[in-house]
Amino acid sequence: MKLFLTILLASLCVIPVAAQNQQYTFFASGTSVVKLEAILHLKNNILKMPLRGSSTELPNGTADLIKDLSITDSKGNKINYEPVQKGRWKLSRHASPLTISYTVALDHQKYNWDNYGGIDAVSYVNTDGIFGTGYSFFIVPDSMNATCNIQFEMPAGWKAATPWQQIGAAAFKTKNTDDLLNNCFFVGTHLQKTLKVGSFEVLMAVGGQLKPKAALFEQVLSASIQQYWKIFKRAEIKKYLVVLNEGNMTDGDAFNNSFDQLIKGEVNKDGMISWGNILAHETFHLWNGISMYSNEQLEWFKEGFTEYMSVKTLRKNGLINDALLLKKLESFHSRYWLASNITSRDVTLKDAGDNKSSNVFLLYGG
Ligand SMILES: [Zn+2]
Repeated sequence: MKLFLTILLASLCVIPVAAQNQQYTFFASGTSVVKLEAILHLKNNILKMPLRGSSTELPNGTADLIKDLSITDSKGNKINYEPVQKGRWKLSRHASPLTISYTVALDHQKYNWDNYGGIDAVSYVNTDGIFGTGYSFFIVPDSMNATCNIQFEMPAGWKAATPWQQIGAAAFKTKNTDDLLNNCFFVGTHLQKTLKVGSFEVLMAVGGQLKPKAALFEQVLSASIQQYWKIFKRAEIKKYLVVLNEGNMTDGDAFNNSFDQLIKGEVNKDGMISWGNILAHETFHLWNGISMYSNEQLEWFKEGFTEYMSVKTLRKNGLINDALLLKKLESFHSRYWLASNITSRDVTLKDAGDNKSSNVFLLYGG
C-alpha cells in the first residue's frame, strides 16, 4: 500500500511541461533604432538571423545591422558568444531558456537589397513608422520550431499591424517560427482597417503619402476578396495583412500571410489598371498559389491565370471600363506575341516558369 501511495503521489507530481513559447518584446521609440528583448528556448547553442542574401557591404545580410547583443542564462549569468558566418552566433555554452537583448539600427535604406528582393522585402521607415519583415528583426534559435509571442511597446498613438493572431492590445502570437520570420508588419501612426468576408479577413495598413488614398485601396481589396470568395467560398488563411506605402519604385513582396506594396507616383482612379491590378493580382494569389498549389512547376497557370482574374475582377466591379479592359487584353496578346516570337522564342509556356525573370512576358501574357 505504501509503495502504491508513493507511486500515486509521484505520478501526481508530474506536472505537464508547458509549451515552450518564444517571447519577444519589440521596443520602438522612433524610426532610427529598435530594441528587442527575448526569452528563448533552444536545443543547441546556435542563434541566427536567417540569411536570405548578402552583399559585399553586408556579408551577414540583415544581421549586420544588429548591435549590442547581450545573452544571459536564466540566473542572469552572462553567456559569451562569437559571430560565425551567415548571420549566426555560437554560444560558449548551452543554456535554455536564455534572455537576449539587442538593437536593430533602422539603416536598411542606406544599403542595396537586390539579393533580398529589394527594400520592400527587408525594412524601411517613413513619416508614419517602421515597416519590417520577421527575418530582418527577430533572432531565433537554430534548431527549435515553436510558437512565438510578440509584445510591441510603442509611443502613444502608434499601433501594430501584423498578420499574426492578436492576443492583446499590442500582443500577437505566431503559429511557429516560420510564421514569425516569413511575414511582414508595420508599426506606427499609419491608417489601418479590417475588411471581412466569410471567415476571412484582410487587414489593410496604409502609411505615409498614401494615407489619403486609403479609400481607393479599400475599394479594390474589398471588391477582390468578395469576388474571389464567391468562387472559392473558403480560404486556407484566416487573416492576411496588406501593407501599402509610397516608394521610389513600384515593387512588392508576398510572404506567408502578408504582402507589402510600394507604389511610385500618383495614385488615382486613372491608374487603377496599374496599381489596382497589382492589388487584385496579389490578393488572388491567396488562392492561386497559397491555398491551391502544386509540387510541379506551374508558374504559367499561377501568374497567367491570376493576371486574367485580376483584370476580370476590376471590370466586373466597375473599377475599369470596357475600353481599359480591351487595352489590357491587347497588352496580354502583344506580350505573348513578343515573347513567343522574340524574347522567349524557343521556350514553352510550361518551361517558362523555370526562369521566371527571363520569361516575364510569356508567363504573365500567356
Ligand atoms: Zn503573381
